[in-house]
Amino acid sequence: MEDSRSRSQWGTICRTFADEVMAPHVRRHDEERSFPRQVHERAAAEGLLNARFPVELGGRGISCADFAEGIAELSGACPAMTWTLVFNFGALHPVLAAGTPEQKDVFVRRLLSRNGYAALGLTEPENGSNLLATRTRAVQTESGWLLNGVKCMSGNGTVADVFLVLANTVVNSRSSGLSFFAVPRESPGVDVGPDVEKAGFRCLPTPTITFRDVALEPVTLVGRVGDGEALLTELLATIRIGGAACGTGIVTALLRDALVWVRERRLYPDDRMDTLSHVQLTLGRLYVELCAARRLLDAATNRVDQGLSFSRESTMAKYAATELAVRASNEILQLHGWRGIATDYGVEKRWRDSRVLTIFEGSSEIQLRQVFREMRRAAAGADGL
Ligand SMILES: Cc1cc2nc3c(=O)[nH]c(=O)nc-3n(C[C@H](O)[C@H](O)[C@H](O)COP(=O)(O)OP(=O)(O)OC[C@H]3O[C@@H](n4cnc5c(N)ncnc54)[C@H](O)[C@@H]3O)c2cc1C
Repeated sequence: MEDSRSRSQWGTICRTFADEVMAPHVRRHDEERSFPRQVHERAAAEGLLNARFPVELGGRGISCADFAEGIAELSGACPAMTWTLVFNFGALHPVLAAGTPEQKDVFVRRLLSRNGYAALGLTEPENGSNLLATRTRAVQTESGWLLNGVKCMSGNGTVADVFLVLANTVVNSRSSGLSFFAVPRESPGVDVGPDVEKAGFRCLPTPTITFRDVALEPVTLVGRVGDGEALLTELLATIRIGGAACGTGIVTALLRDALVWVRERRLYPDDRMDTLSHVQLTLGRLYVELCAARRLLDAATNRVDQGLSFSRESTMAKYAATELAVRASNEILQLHGWRGIATDYGVEKRWRDSRVLTIFEGSSEIQLRQVFREMRRAAAGADGL
């Protein structure tokens, strides 16, 4: 697995960080469901935090391809911890895409300069997959906006300094479409609830955030009134690259460790597990599927780096890589017998964490609906399917 593709310099930095800094802390934060502060401090000191942001805003301006490779390497140690480290780029995407220079300065540059956090408020108790039915409302007032609503499962929400909130905008008593707002956490009326206990991604806090008559200044509106739907589409396409990279990273680590296990484990005195045809076929098939998922991910990141549209590619990559992670972790867990479900061996944690991937950032069903629409469009086009 190691030599099958050459690792970039950024990938090597992330792999070293994963092995030396993250790995020793993974189990404790998973068991305690605690935010990995120490790991973040080391990541900040070593320039790993917020590296995908442009240099002028405090990042390192790394490419999307490098970013995805880094996420995959870090996810080999712990996808949840990785998410806590990289999600600022997803949460702040609306500001990067549509913010004014002042908004980029206030909500991005200043936040990054103090190693702060942003969180995303899309999902509501009533609406997860169908975000167009968002109930949170921002009503225009003489001095700005009045925000009311509830958002749930907000990743990094417990530590966030600012929330990027999707809301229905009301101007002159008329519904004016969806818009994004950058809501400072300290605004009166913002209430951050306790973390939700989850089977996987335990060290990523995902609280419910309640907004009660939160008065917002005009500068908090990101983009124009009604731009929210277009920004949401772009945002989801962007964060799905992260989900896909997480999936390929988990599967790579599972296969890497499984090769050691099947080489060393003897089922009968002279019979290593890797001599069994069933084992060879299982791991061989999963490797083919991993290579295919990586190609889809590469296609998406290359298009981002070339400034081309990438929604189709990132959707397919997210679907393929995350479904594979669920399947691979389940099959490799089985190859480990009782050790597969014992907490000492790490396989069950990858199995639990993988289960999250086909749900967040839009479930697999939502990805497939989008792929179906793309397929239908392609079929009707000049070149067909
Ligand atoms: C670890 C984690 C982190 C998260 N982080 C964030 C975050 O930072 N910010 C945020 O806003 N949200 C976040 N979420 C929430 C996540 O985005 C939602 O869980 C997801 O979008 C699905 O919404 P839902 O859970 O409400 O499912 P529902 O929308 O209730 O769907 C239930 C089921 O119905 C299926 N379904 C829905 N519509 C259709 C359809 N048309 N056709 C077929 N099947 C359908 C779904 O696939 C799913 O299986 C996070 C979730 C997790 C687990």
